[in-house]
Parts: sequence; C-alpha cells; structure tokens
Amino acid sequence: MRSEWVGRLGTMAGVKFAVPRETVEGEQRIPLSPDSIPRLKGLGLEVWAQAGAGRGAGFVDASLAEAGAEVAPSLSRCLQGAEVVCKVQPPSAKEAAALPQGSALISFLAASTPAEVLGQLVKRRITAFSFELVPRISRAQAMDVLSSQASIGGYKAVLVGASRLPKILPLQMTAAGTIAPARVLVMGAGVAGLQAIATARRLGAVVEATDVRPAVKEEVQSLGATFVELPLEAQEGEGGYAREQSEEFLARQRELTAERVEQSDLVITTAAVPGRRAPVLITKELVAKMRAGSVIVDLAADSGGNCELTRPGEEVQAGAVTILGWRNLPATVPTTASLMLARNVAAIAGHLIQEGKLVLDFEDEITSSMCALHDGQIRNPLMQESAQVGANRS
Ligand code: NAD
Repeated sequence: MRSEWVGRLGTMAGVKFAVPRETVEGEQRIPLSPDSIPRLKGLGLEVWAQAGAGRGAGFVDASLAEAGAEVAPSLSRCLQGAEVVCKVQPPSAKEAAALPQGSALISFLAASTPAEVLGQLVKRRITAFSFELVPRISRAQAMDVLSSQASIGGYKAVLVGASRLPKILPLQMTAAGTIAPARVLVMGAGVAGLQAIATARRLGAVVEATDVRPAVKEEVQSLGATFVELPLEAQEGEGGYAREQSEEFLARQRELTAERVEQSDLVITTAAVPGRRAPVLITKELVAKMRAGSVIVDLAADSGGNCELTRPGEEVQAGAVTILGWRNLPATVPTTASLMLARNVAAIAGHLIQEGKLVLDFEDEITSSMCALHDGQIRNPLMQESAQVGANRS
C-alpha cells in the first residue's frame, strides 16, 4: 500500500521538518547537524529548529542557520505547520498533544511507550516512526540509530570505567619497574560490546569477551581481544540477535564465567535480548568475590541490568566494588552522537521523502517496520499491548 502526503501548505511550499528542543534532563543530543541540513534540504524539506535545540551538542543557532535551517524563537513557532517533527527522546504526553494534527513524528519510541502518550498520538493521528524499529538489514544500515548510539555508549563505558579504576590500563615499563596492564572483560559482544573492546584495547588493557553467539568470535579476535569460549549451546536468535535464554542456561553460564569476572579489573556488560529483561550474568555473591577496586559498567541497566546489584541511573558501592548503571551514555558524548544520529535521520528522511513529499509504502520492509502508528491506528504489536495494558489499568 502506497500513499502520498501533500503538505497542508500545498505543493507550493516544501514539507516543513521541525526539530524542537529536547526536554528530558541530560538529553544533550539533537537529531540535526550543520552537516545533515543540506542533505535534508536537498530532499525538498524546509528545515526548522527551535532556538537552543543544538546548544548541548555544540551546534549553536548560528551554525544551524548558516547551514540553511530556519531558527524558530519558540516551540509553537517551530511546530506550526510542521509535517515532520523529529526529536531524540520519545514525546511526553504533553509534547505529543502539541504535535500538529496529522503530522509525522520520527524519534525513539519504545514498545513500552506509556499508554497515555500512545493515546495522544492516536488522537492526533500522528504517523510515528520509531528509531528502535529500524530493521537490522543491510539496506537500512545507514538509518540504524540503535547501532550508531550503541557504539558511542560502548566507547564511553570504557572511559567512565577506566576513570573510576584505581589503576591505569596499559602496561608500563618504567625506571620504577613494570606495571601489568589492567584486565577488562566485556560481556556481550554486539555493537556496544565490540566498540568497548576496541576502546579498551586502544587504552592498552588486556581484553577478554564473552557472548552467547559464537558468530562474534572472529570479530572479537580481530580487535585484539580473547574470545572466552564456553561449552554451552549457541543462543543465536533471529536477525543476528541472541534468543532468550533459560534460567538453567544462565546459571551454567555464570558458573563458567565466574573466574573471569573475579580476575577482571573492569567489567563492561552489554548483554541483551530484544524485548526481554537483560540476562543476569553477575550475581551479588560473585560481586563479593571480585577484586578490591574493580568496576562494573552495566550498559544493560535500563533493561534490568546484567549485574544483580545494578540500580539504573545510579552508582552502587558493593564492598570495594563500584557498579555504574549510568543511563543514556551516548548523550554524554553529544557532538559525535548527534552527528551520527543526524546522518541516520537524513538517511531515514531520504527513504521516506520522495520528490519533496512523504511517501508511505507499507510494502517496503523498512517503512513498514519503522512505522509504529498511522492514521489513528497502532501498527506495532508490542505497542498495541502497551496501549491495552494502560487501557485496562484506567
Ligand atoms: P543487543 O544489544 O540485543 O545485544 C548485545 C549482545 O549481547 C549481543 O551480541 C548478544 O548476543 C549478547 N548476549 C545476549 N545474551 C547474552 C548472554 N547471556 N551472555 C553474553 N552475551 C549475551 O544486540 P546489538 O548489539 O544491538 O546487535 C547484535 C547483532 O545484531 C550485531 O552483532 C549484528 O550481528 C546484528 N546487527 C545487524 C545490523 C544490520 O545488519 N543492519 C545492525 C546492527 C546489528
């Protein structure tokens, strides 16, 4: 099914693409950059940004204007007549209510989006495209926000962890003698894990990595790390992801990896299964056996944590071990994260906009997967469940 949207302004004007300022605390990213604006304009879009939207990422209003964007002094001016609104964080219910009726939204929009927000989006007949729903296929690689941001998260996790270690990472041979390199263990060698491995290696650590998908072994080794092979059945799922593992499997995995965890100075955990709680790989009993001063950076904190003691958004001191469950690490590297995000968004817009119009071709896998809501309907099955749960509660 293919449908075309002619802007409410008519065919005379280009489609207005608006980027409001983020409102979630700590969100410093913007899905627009001076580098992406000419590309968006090349698609026939009229690009607008709310004043100050790029400040956190270092893209001041003047740099956005110089690249060709219109800078709106207020949110209402930014959104007025917008046909495509693009932001990083999912809208709050209030933000959803402020979106122009019938416009398109491109942002993070998780399956667990609150029913209240979904209700507003439905009511306003918003066509919502979710970054989380970009399919992991080679044709969509340039649009893959999850990957671009996960790689930044993996990089930053190592820096955050290294800065909290009471020791240095590289081998040092000095007049005062030789200092052994730190040992880093990366659990989960997907996009974030591989970037963490590469970063820890660049800093001179001795790096080991584990994953339940043996397919990553060569990638791990090519980055100069040791792949810890476990005598366990592979847990390959669909689309290159891991499948959900049984509690028996995880108990056995914990037993087999315990010694590696105990011997590590820095453990970066990134293990995840899409749509499921993150597997617990490090129990509190194991934390108690870890080296004094060691650090765990749990990138799975938001989905429950790979360490039993992780608290999302917090630092936990467990004896002499520090556990960091920082949320949204990519937002702490806002310039690079925004540059990559803006390129992903330009690729998404390039896919959806044809001859200056938003074209919805639901026979196309990318458009169909990414589009969570359209025409007053929730298309994504997991979001339909969220909306149903919310409706049953109220
Ligand atoms: P993810 O965030 O869902 O998971 C991170 C890693 O955790 C995965 O490697 C997974 O195997 C691992 N894991 C799960 N349970 C574990 C456990 N008990 N112990 C240890 N590790 C465990 O995945 P991701 O990083 O977003 O992507 C995973 C893979 O998807 C990539 O490596 C790649 O093969 C594929 N991918 C493909 C594309 C594309 O083709 N466009 C894009 C991105 C990713």
